[in-house]
Amino acid sequence: MSEIIKTEAVVLSKMDYRDSSNILSLYTKDFGRISVIHKGARSPKSKKGFIAEPLNHLQIIIYKKDSRELQLLSSADLISHFPRIKEGLDKLKYSLAILELIKKLTPENETNIRLFNGLIRILFLMDSSNESSKITFGRFFLFFLKDIGYEIQLNKCKSCQNNLMNGDSLGYNFELGIFCSRCLGNFRIDFKLSQELFNYLICLKQNKNTDSFMSFTADRAIIFMERHLKFHIPDFKGIISFHTIK
Ligand SMILES: [Zn+2]
Repeated sequence: MSEIIKTEAVVLSKMDYRDSSNILSLYTKDFGRISVIHKGARSPKSKKGFIAEPLNHLQIIIYKKDSRELQLLSSADLISHFPRIKEGLDKLKYSLAILELIKKLTPENETNIRLFNGLIRILFLMDSSNESSKITFGRFFLFFLKDIGYEIQLNKCKSCQNNLMNGDSLGYNFELGIFCSRCLGNFRIDFKLSQELFNYLICLKQNKNTDSFMSFTADRAIIFMERHLKFHIPDFKGIISFHTIK
């Protein structure tokens, strides 16, 4: 038995399949990440083929069969195509990195409406705001790590439980969490956090304005989060989109 299902989806990636079809990886509102076959997508008459491009937010109808790995896409209507993201190389690079994280690190067929809504919100922000794309990406990355179970701990020193003081130099152990300057000598430190980097991460976490921070700090924050993820998921080799689009 196959069911006819209507849901929303973001296209994560697309590849050619046989003569005129495509296989799409989608992040859907109701079923999480799924793969669909889009028959005839590359035939000149297909209007859907144009709509079903990576990044686009769609309303879709699929024929879904649980026993099948590839579902069948029946129709697709465009909700948003985020035109400003596609115009700007930097916006595009960081937006593709968001899609890459979701494609690589979420399980198939696992509903996560919070993540779906977070994805739509961040693509909308990337498209409409004048904030630097790397900062917008950092906001998503911090949220995403928490969502998939690898939250960055920024509250208290893991050893003495004291609040972290302004001006203190801090250290992070990817297994245990954050340490104050008095305690960090007793633990393996995987990443040193300057006060500037710590304050920046707090701003991201609390969704505050980050205008006063250096661009370098936004880069360091991404490197920190990428290293944290590599530590916990050895198969994850880093974000490829950063290197394919310069
Ligand atoms: Zn301490």
